[in-house]
This record gives sequence, structure tokens and C-alpha cells, in this order.
Amino acid sequence: MNIPDYITSVLNILYSHGFEGYLVGGCVRDALMGKTPHDFDLTTSATPQEMLEVFKDHRIIETGLKHGTVTVVSGGENVEITTYRIDGAYLDNRRPSDVTFTRNLREDLSRRDFTVNALAYSPQSGLVDCFDGLADLKAGVIRCVGNPDTRFLEDGLRIMRALRFSSVLGFDIDQATAQSIIANRRLLRNISAERIFAELKKLVCGKKAASVIGEYSEVFFSLFDSVANDKERFCQNATTLPVIGADHCSRFAALLWGFDDSAVSSFMHSLKPDNHTYSTVRTLCAYYPQKLLCDKYFIRRLMSALDDELILALVDINCAHHSDFDCQMFLDQYNTQKSLNPCVKLSQLAVTGSDIISFGVPKGPKVGEIMQKLLYAVIDDECANTFEDIKKYCMIIYNS
Ligand code: ATP
Ligand code: MG
Repeated sequence: MNIPDYITSVLNILYSHGFEGYLVGGCVRDALMGKTPHDFDLTTSATPQEMLEVFKDHRIIETGLKHGTVTVVSGGENVEITTYRIDGAYLDNRRPSDVTFTRNLREDLSRRDFTVNALAYSPQSGLVDCFDGLADLKAGVIRCVGNPDTRFLEDGLRIMRALRFSSVLGFDIDQATAQSIIANRRLLRNISAERIFAELKKLVCGKKAASVIGEYSEVFFSLFDSVANDKERFCQNATTLPVIGADHCSRFAALLWGFDDSAVSSFMHSLKPDNHTYSTVRTLCAYYPQKLLCDKYFIRRLMSALDDELILALVDINCAHHSDFDCQMFLDQYNTQKSLNPCVKLSQLAVTGSDIISFGVPKGPKVGEIMQKLLYAVIDDECANTFEDIKKYCMIIYNS
């Protein structure tokens, strides 16, 4: 396994003080799959106090001492190290009421969600695989560590995580885990919107998103009443995901295609996403019912309302939903229009708001309304984008 020097040096320091230290979780899983890990989580037999002592010559950020996590700055990089931990009782299907530290790696690994996430590795001790995670990794299987019902009862989010890992890694879900997911799906209702959104964002972009959502649609219906009203549409929409660009906004929009605005907003609202996601998905959904036309005026109006990324998302969705949509012809027309750089934004008009006022329009909302009408007139070639022509056109619409 290829481990960066700044990590090796942290592990060496732990071992030289008589403690154990391992890479654990996602980074081990990803490295064994031949991928470059995006971050490295470390786990150690040292308690937080012992870590503070061992790394006293380093810059240390006391990230979450109570939960055993310390961040050590090594070679200019932040390295998160967490003490081997046993989670206390789960009183609310969400978070352990308390955590206790242990010197036993196996105990720490046993609290982890899936066997493929319960692998630990260090150059000093090699791979530690207490739950046959390596075999599941090779076979491409997501399986709970321990009894699935118990594990989902402890933390309902794991249901969504199982679907997320299956979608992203392209793995199947072990039968007992799968049955337990369906049986316990209502537990997800106790989980905060933010945690669900973080997993769902990744799930919808995964390579197996279509089949995971299709197979586990009941999980979505028990979580989102808004789509449960038209199960067939939701499942049909899920099948379109493979041809939709892999950004979460386009994918959410593709899933919600054809649902009315109140269903779309209630689905999105219940996820409490960031403002950008919320507004992008709603905008995309609002444009769906309209099949994209190859007409240059239609395209210019689209360019006026949406940026490039959203237009391309709409192209994907049109390809998926309208068999008679000529994607290539649309893209050719769109690229031609883009290269002509037509006036499609208010800021590109040859007049400003102050000019409109100087033409005799009183200050106030009327100015904005007239500007918008002028923009459409220019887009539709009814008026040239020159000061004089716009002035004439402005007087006509103002006096009509
Ligand atoms: P990613 O590549 O998405 O970061 P990851 O496996 O690293 O995948 P994280 O959410 O970063 O996932 O969690 C790190 C590790 O912590 C997991 O691999 C798993 O061992 C453990 N873990 C995280 N969340 C849970 C949970 N809800 N229940 C049990 N173990 C968990
Ligand atoms: Mg991670």
C-alpha cells in the first residue's frame, strides 16, 4: 500500500512510543481496490491524553477529545487520529450516548458499519481483517459487521450508507443486510436531514445508482412522501440516471422529473440541502416539461435564463425522456449560438436602467419590467441591440 511520508511518520512515532497505529476505513478499502484514497484516517491504541504527550513536538488540534479524535499536523498536513473506541448504548437510533476507549483494535473494528470499512493496515503490523472484509471487497459485497438488525437499530443512517456504498463502489448488498434494510427502513425517519443528504448526494452519483434506487425504492418511499404518491414515475426516472451527468443536482432533477412543483419542493426541502442545490434542482425541474427545441430563439431564451451547466443537464434529461429529441442537432445549434455571443443578459443590452429613465420612464419597478421586455425583443430579433433602436422600441412599449 502506498502511504505518504507524513502518515508513515505519524505511525512510526506511535510505534516508537509503544502504541499501535493503523490506517482504517475508507482509505484501506480504496487502496486495496487500487484507488488513491482521498484522505487517511488513523486509529490508535493511545488515548487522547497519550497522543497529546506523544505528539507534543507537533502542532495539535484538539478536534474531538471526548470522542478520542486528535488532529496532528505532520509534514504540513492534518492527520486525524482516533483512539480505539467502543460505542456506548444507542438510545435514539442515531448516536452512541457515550464512547469508551479500548486498547483492543478488534473492538474498534467491530463498531464499524460494513466489513469492507472495517479493515485496518499498518506497515508495522500488516492488514488486520477480523470480519472477512477482504473477501467481501474481492467479491464486491456490502455486508454489515455483526447482526444487521442490531447495527441498523443503533444507527439508522447505516441504511443509507449501505445503499451509498453499493451505488458508488458498484457492489451488491449481502442478502441478510438487504432484507434488514427493507425491514428497518423506517428508522431513517429518525435521522437528521443533513446526514441523509450527505449520503444521498453521493448515492445518486454512483455508478450503480439506477439499480440501487430501483431495487430499494421502498426505502425512498418511506422517507419521502412526495414521491411515494407516484411510485411508478419515480422508478422509471431512476432508470434514466446512467445517461445523466454525474453531478448531484442533475441527478436529483432527473429523479424528480415530471413531479409537480410542490412534490419537488417538498422532496428537496425535507433534505435541507445547501441553497445552490435547492435552487438548481427546482430550476431544472421547472424547465423539464418543456421539451428543448432546436430553434435559435428558444435556445437564446434558454441561455438567458440558465447557465451552461444547467442547459447541458437539461440536454441529458431530454435525451433520457424524449426518444425523438435530436441531441446532436440541439448541441450543434447551441454551440453555434454560443459562438455568436448574442445578447441574452440584461447587462449586455446597449442601454442601462438610467437610460430607460432618461427616456421618460418613471423610476421604480416599471424600469425593470421594460428592461426585461427589451431584452426579449432583442433576443427575438424584433429590435437591434443599439441605443437608438432600443430607445425607439422602448417608447413604443411604454406608450402601448
Ligand atoms: P468515503 O470514501 O466516503 O470517505 P469512508 O468509508 O471513509 O468513505 P466515512 O464516512 O469517511 O466513510 O467514515 C470513515 C469510517 O468510519 C468508515 O469507513 C467506517 O469504518 C466508519 N463509519 C463511518 N460512519 C459510520 C457509521 N454511521 N456507523 C459505523 N461506522 C461508521
Ligand atoms: Mg472517509
